[in-house]
Amino acid sequence: MKILLDESEIRKGIHRLAAQLNGRYEHQTLTIVSIMTGSLVMLADLIRCLEMPVRISLIQASSYRGTMTSGELRIQDQMMLDISGRDVLLIDDIFDTGKTLEQVSARLLELQPRSLQTAVFLNKSGQSVVATRPDYVVFEIPNAFVVGYGLDYEDLYRNLPHVAILEPSDIEKHPPI
Ligand code: 5GP
Ligand code: MG
Repeated sequence: MKILLDESEIRKGIHRLAAQLNGRYEHQTLTIVSIMTGSLVMLADLIRCLEMPVRISLIQASSYRGTMTSGELRIQDQMMLDISGRDVLLIDDIFDTGKTLEQVSARLLELQPRSLQTAVFLNKSGQSVVATRPDYVVFEIPNAFVVGYGLDYEDLYRNLPHVAILEPSDIEKHPPI
């Protein structure tokens, strides 16, 4: 696997994002809504660099891409906190077509937060099909399929401390069990 972002680059990127957020929210209480499971590692690293009071809310979003209902998003929100009147930051692992972030944002806005911003760990350049962009992007990456630092292939590789490009030959060598 080809390493795209190593541990030290990632650490610096997360610190850059945290500094921006510490400036933007200062002493306000921030409610972070984190889209599982891909943003789990980013969430854990980011919150330990934040200085304001933080509430953590988890949701799961799965798309049915590649099936009959392509593009349809199922959102599970049993672990969602009350966000009405709150300052909310929605975080996701990667912004590809942008549909996930757009649809989850729309759902959150129905709950009437005081403010809503979005942050993604990775932005795949040129892939977006939606009008909106994330407010914060930690890294811009080329259009390749990546794993690690929370991102999976068939639910594997999330625990890699770096981000790597997964080539078809990698899958042949180490097929997921
Ligand atoms: P979007 O809705 O922006 O097209 O897709 C976002 C979701 O697709 C991400 O949350 C992620 O689950 C998945 N995804 C898109 N590109 C990649 C990639 O390169 N690697 C992995 N592991 N997941 C991806
Ligand atoms: Mg995801």
